[in-house]
Amino acid sequence: MPRVLITGGAGFLGSHLCDFLLEKGFEVVCMDNLLTGDISNIAHIRNEKFLFIKHDVTNYIYLEGPLDYILHFASPASPVDYMELPIQTLKVGSLGTHKALGLAKEKKATFLLASTSEVYGDPLIHPQSEDYWGNVNPIGPRGVYDEAKRFAEAITMAYHRYHGVETRIARIFNCFGPRMRIYDGRVVPTFMRQALLGEDLTVFGDGSQTRSFCYVSDLIEGIYRLMLSREVEPVNIGNPQEMSILQFAEKILSLTKSKSRIVFKPLPKDDPRVRQPDISKARRILGWEPKVSLEQGLINTLEWMKQKLETARR
Ligand code: UDP
Repeated sequence: MPRVLITGGAGFLGSHLCDFLLEKGFEVVCMDNLLTGDISNIAHIRNEKFLFIKHDVTNYIYLEGPLDYILHFASPASPVDYMELPIQTLKVGSLGTHKALGLAKEKKATFLLASTSEVYGDPLIHPQSEDYWGNVNPIGPRGVYDEAKRFAEAITMAYHRYHGVETRIARIFNCFGPRMRIYDGRVVPTFMRQALLGEDLTVFGDGSQTRSFCYVSDLIEGIYRLMLSREVEPVNIGNPQEMSILQFAEKILSLTKSKSRIVFKPLPKDDPRVRQPDISKARRILGWEPKVSLEQGLINTLEWMKQKLETARR
């Protein structure tokens, strides 16, 4: 039975990966320092093939026993988080990736990096395909995340080329679903929370900037297929259905039947104007594309969010 280490395993995507891989029969080691991850995301897991280790992966990782895969998902991932935790964000993308790669080399494990659409920065090519090198401001507030992930991709390729480590790079676009932190500042949990509590929806800028949102179950399936594939170069994983943030706010208002108003706030610096993954490569190589409609994904997430807000009130 294959054994996998998931760094950031108590986070939003990491915890879904734990569930998914346990279900597939993997033995799962979940590692997290709980900086932005939450133990409640994995508290439901009752399985003797599951092990949680509290550890900051920017420090040397010691793990006994064989390991077949390492999925490196540890990192703050919300712009609000990485602006509040700039040094930790840089460290986990650089030092953390180095440590996780070192472990992959030692164990002869396949290493998968959770990279990001942020490597494209504020893109000048639309939609973004993997051969685009990006338009990133290294010294702007988002630079701490963008450059850390770009470094992470570079060191991943170096370990592949120089040490022969089997590596995969997933460029993950905006995704959403249950277990996002309701105050993490990202647009999906923020608008949902605001709509359900009857508060104003805070659209940044004029709301004309675009994003494309992928539901978590689709995303996890894409990661899994990439992990099992032989593809070393980056693969975009995301949903190409694009919309403006203003349209997205209106969608949340109509789904929740909320009476909340939309208010406009200043656009954060270097906020990408557009974002849409070109997923031709994932379609071709992984036979993968998203299956869950935006509407269905939002309905599922709203159900979860209502319960979350209810327990928070009690
Ligand atoms: N956004 C917004 N209101 C909010 C939070 C975010 O209008 O309360 C906008 C943000 O400026 C960006 C988009 O929604 O254009 C997506 O932001 P998010 O933080 O989810 O992630 P990003 O895609 O920027 O990494």
